[in-house]
Amino acid sequence: MTTDHPLILISPETHDVLLDLLYATPRNIAGRPIYARELCLLHHEAERCLREAVQNAALAGYRLKIFDAFRPHEAQVLLWDSAPDKLYVADPAIGSNHTRGTAIDLTLVDAQGEELDMGTGFDDMTLLSHHFNEQVSASAQANRLLLLRIMTDAGFEHIAHEWWHYALPGKHYPLINHQLPDHMNPMRPQFQA
Ligand SMILES: [Zn+2]
Repeated sequence: MTTDHPLILISPETHDVLLDLLYATPRNIAGRPIYARELCLLHHEAERCLREAVQNAALAGYRLKIFDAFRPHEAQVLLWDSAPDKLYVADPAIGSNHTRGTAIDLTLVDAQGEELDMGTGFDDMTLLSHHFNEQVSASAQANRLLLLRIMTDAGFEHIAHEWWHYALPGKHYPLINHQLPDHMNPMRPQFQA
């Protein structure tokens, strides 16, 4: 089996982040776990930017809490089938930056580990999740702006309709579909030796 893939494992121990991978739980739009395991993986170029974002956040007294990062093609298909509004999920036939390992969904938490108020939760696929929506409170707007600055300064780009989603610029990274060894694949349950 080849291990020729560009992904790096992200963990609280190695990256000083919090993980709450909601697609490994029933707390997602599918209403059931999509991943068999809570594995957080990023393309090595995105991982480098994440390390910078972690430092940027720490300077302001915050940490990053990650909801999703690399998403295998099979998971993208399940999400596409579950999504009530296709604006918020990339067509698996075209491919998501999550499947390139270059996208990350995340928020900010304070020194007590509490998530900052962003106006909506993760995966709220409504107009309220859009940047600069007028119905979102001033404090949530400010929190979104803080995350935006932290992430863009580290090299990520935002998208207009999801405050939690950031990705490396460009679409030139290949989709990562078949090269993953089982121990790096969130869709595969962990083998007990
Ligand atoms: Zn995303």
